[in-house]
Amino acid sequence: MKITALNGFKDILPGDIELWQRVESTAREIFSRFQFSELRLPILEKTELFARSIGEATDIVEKEMYTFVDKGVTMRPETTAQMIRAYIEHGLYAQRPIQRLFTIGPMFRHERPQLGRLRQFHQLDAEVLGTDNPRIDAEVMAMGSMLLERLGISVSLEMNSLGCPECRPVFRQRLLAFLEERMDHLCDDCKRRSTTNPLRALDCKNPTCREQVADAPSILDNLCEGCADHFQVVRSCLDKLKVPYSLNKFMVRGLDYYCRTTFEFITGDLGAQSAVGGGGRYDGLVEKLGGPKKTPGIGFAMGLERLVLLLQQQEKEQEKRQEELDIFVAGLGPVASEVCFDLVHELRKQGLRVGIDHEGKSLKSQMKQADKAGATHVLIVGEDELARGEGVLRNMTNQEQQDIALDPQVIGTKVSGR
Ligand code: AMP
Repeated sequence: MKITALNGFKDILPGDIELWQRVESTAREIFSRFQFSELRLPILEKTELFARSIGEATDIVEKEMYTFVDKGVTMRPETTAQMIRAYIEHGLYAQRPIQRLFTIGPMFRHERPQLGRLRQFHQLDAEVLGTDNPRIDAEVMAMGSMLLERLGISVSLEMNSLGCPECRPVFRQRLLAFLEERMDHLCDDCKRRSTTNPLRALDCKNPTCREQVADAPSILDNLCEGCADHFQVVRSCLDKLKVPYSLNKFMVRGLDYYCRTTFEFITGDLGAQSAVGGGGRYDGLVEKLGGPKKTPGIGFAMGLERLVLLLQQQEKEQEKRQEELDIFVAGLGPVASEVCFDLVHELRKQGLRVGIDHEGKSLKSQMKQADKAGATHVLIVGEDELARGEGVLRNMTNQEQQDIALDPQVIGTKVSGR
């Protein structure tokens, strides 16, 4: 029997690895512009580290971790907690008051595999420890945006604030009261989580739940003064840096440790797996894991598989575009065909990709050929048009037609949009 790789675990082969290397080296280059230093961390950690930081009632800890129960260790499902573990263990806080760190490596979650979702996946992870200055929030998001822009990946940045231990419990109660009135219509997960973490109902993917929470109160209207001011400065800093973003009151992120600013980089090109990266602030986590008091932090993780998939899609589209014809010239009848023969050559001299039929086929058949070749335009030259020194140019994208002089310059300019 053939032994194959486990479901959700993938080999990365030559031919694909080049894109991985490009993403990783671009990340290293961009992160160094922002003064981040790289570190590498182990795959295995004590289970307790993740249970305590991510939260017992989260999807990751409840059902997705690869844990060796008898050994009390877990294969890391994410890296923020272990980054902090290392930061505390090696006293990195004493070396520099503000640490900017990043790491790249595999993570493990027992999720249902699908496009862009694996059980072993890789993350680029960047964290800033030791400051709650809202400028850092903006810088970190700007760094993520700069990386994606540099890779040529277009995403939208969505942002929310989750408040702090002062204002979130008040909001939680308000939201719970709202949910209780609709509890019968919520899915089982949301019902179950209503006692442990009702905020999760806000980002539930179930269509009925989405409908039910559409008018839910927004945490952004319920922030305490400190959180509201912080968020306001983050927003104005992003404006200053010209980093576009939108607010998403439904984004809560699935991990307990987040507070204040949270954000995700979203793409429309990966089906259900729309998040390319995400992160946020976690001001109480260092202290919770036994580190120095009042050591705030913020960071994000991006999924390498998803970045590579997007780059592969782009390459395919580019290749397809390169194969497509700019124009197919359809001459009808022997005289028109004769004229088209020269015309096509002149258009090709201008650099256009041009198709022509020399077999005297019908208009229908030539249109079929044009369509098959992905021609963006078709020039139809019939006997009547020819008598006027014109042809009919059809834009195959919007089906618009216009009469056009049979002049290679005029046609070339129109087709190439120069
Ligand atoms: P999270 O820690 O869940 O916010 O994930 C951060 C990023 O890691 C996501 O935006 C994805 O790009 C990536 N990611 C998370 N889980 C997976 C997975 N199972 N497979 C592939 N990529 C993932």
